Amino acid sequence: MDVVSNLKEIQENIKLACEKSNRKIDEITVIGVTKYVTIERAEETIDAGIKNLGENRNEGFIEKHEVIGKKATWHFIGTLQTRKVKDIIEKIDYLHSLDRLSLAKEVNKRSEKPVNCFVQVNVSGEESKHGLAPENVLDFIEEIKNYENIYVVGLMTMAPHIKDREKIKEVFKRLAKLRDQISQKNYSHAPCHYLSMGMSNDYDIAIEEGATHIRIGTKLVGN
Ligand SMILES: *Cc1c(COP(=O)(O)O)cnc(C)c1O
Repeated sequence: MDVVSNLKEIQENIKLACEKSNRKIDEITVIGVTKYVTIERAEETIDAGIKNLGENRNEGFIEKHEVIGKKATWHFIGTLQTRKVKDIIEKIDYLHSLDRLSLAKEVNKRSEKPVNCFVQVNVSGEESKHGLAPENVLDFIEEIKNYENIYVVGLMTMAPHIKDREKIKEVFKRLAKLRDQISQKNYSHAPCHYLSMGMSNDYDIAIEEGATHIRIGTKLVGN
């Protein structure tokens, strides 16, 4: 399917989820996750009107960024190895996977300006998933308050890959609650207004629970 048709269907679902939860459509940023697809397909995504692109590996990101550059807003959504920070940090607009102090240190050192970061949280507690345990997030945010190049715009999570929509909903609810707790503190280095949650199979649930950034690969660009 072409990206335009896929996007139409996604926008219809976004509209329904917004109506159900009394939210405005323009509160939701759709990030087109292009990690599975070619540069041409990523360009098709931009032409369809999706200017926010997400990549999860350095190599894939650098390859696409070289061609597409500033035509897109770039979100790095994958686990970032500390030693590879320097290769990408000046080229990305958002980092969705800030999940440890050593990474924060390296980003702070290598970047010349504040980086918009989402702190990744492992809400579901699955061992296979990256991210801080929910109970450690507040301490982490306190610990990085003197890192002048880290600016925490929000929290990110991945729901477990299961069919039980109630369980998925609980994960998103918990992240939203944590976001509220942090944003209430009015930290100047961590306004933490955003919620990056929801993928191809669960973005409607995520929107109902407050997502501001949904990350869609398969259902938008295919795999
Ligand atoms: C791959 C990926 C996505 C997109 O997944 P789909 O199920 O294909 O929509 C979203 N977020 C992260 C962190 C990913 O790695």
